[in-house]
Amino acid sequence: MGRLQIKKVWVDREVESAGLTRRLLDRLAGRPVEIVDNVETVKRAIRLQSDPVGESKKNLFITTQKSFLRPCPCTPGCLGCGYWTIDLDLNCPFDCSYCILQDYLDCQPLTVAVNREQLGLELEAFFKERMAGIIRIGTGELADSLALDELTENSSFLIETFRGQDRFWLELKSKAGLSPALLQMVPANNVVLSWSLNPAAVIKSEEKGTAGLEERLMAATEAVGHGYRVGFHFDPILHYPGWHQDYERVVESIFRSIPVETISWISLGSLRFPPGLLPLARRRFPGSRIFEHELTRSSDGKYRYPRPLRQWLYKQLAGMFIEFGAEDRLYLCMESVEVWREFKEKIKRGRRKLTFPFPWQC
Ligand code: SF4
Repeated sequence: MGRLQIKKVWVDREVESAGLTRRLLDRLAGRPVEIVDNVETVKRAIRLQSDPVGESKKNLFITTQKSFLRPCPCTPGCLGCGYWTIDLDLNCPFDCSYCILQDYLDCQPLTVAVNREQLGLELEAFFKERMAGIIRIGTGELADSLALDELTENSSFLIETFRGQDRFWLELKSKAGLSPALLQMVPANNVVLSWSLNPAAVIKSEEKGTAGLEERLMAATEAVGHGYRVGFHFDPILHYPGWHQDYERVVESIFRSIPVETISWISLGSLRFPPGLLPLARRRFPGSRIFEHELTRSSDGKYRYPRPLRQWLYKQLAGMFIEFGAEDRLYLCMESVEVWREFKEKIKRGRRKLTFPFPWQC
């Protein structure tokens, strides 16, 4: 919990005496605690601060979630990959300049749900209902899957819940190091620990509070050594002078210690964000230059790099992975059918489905 900077803990009255609430409060001993009726009280306090987004990351709210599982909405006009998400924690203690949660979450504090039994029941029903195919499910959409893990140990709960459910693959996606709980567990074949990667200089300038590149790669190497499958996300890929050389170094450093067979998937997605993020990010990260690039507004309303540039970036990255025999692990995140088609040609992937062609699915 060394990196966590929690200033205050807020507890939903409904879960004041829940076992997990008590354990969390023990681990957070020394912080002021306030019991509240709902999240609105916490949001009101956060909104009064000069940097509400930054403040939301330092206030932790213990509560319940009404429901946990939902299909990933992807984005209109793009080819979804059939991913499902579990909203177990909300918000993230890290502070990336490009993070869309700054805009999406509207001052939601760092939120931990303690009604995990309900999640267990939802998952049990889901495992029974979905009769065919492999489904990937992750907790990294509205949070970082491992950032709060030393506090919550959610990863242990999830891994045990997924163990033996071979058609359902759990992904824990992070920019943190490896939480000790993960190394004390017996890995499950359907669990993928994944890390988002960017060049070291980008991490330093744009991903405040996260583990550095070396620490992430070390974590992935340790995870593989312990028997886990791993994944990587190059998202957002940023275009700047010298980007090619920087990304090439990152790709090379993966394969220095991680065998390709242990990598389940690698996603590629270039910078994109909703218009609401722009004023927020410019105010909060005045030194960042990543938004000063030519961007176009796509049909889903988001800003992105122009399509030819995106296609070129993916082609260059694919070339770097081909050298290591990892091209069949690649997929695109939030891209149009046209961009996917062109990409598929590039990596000569001749399998039936465009978005689900991982080697382990064939
Ligand atoms: S690690 Fe992910 S969720 Fe956390 S601030 Fe960065 S982009 Fe957002």
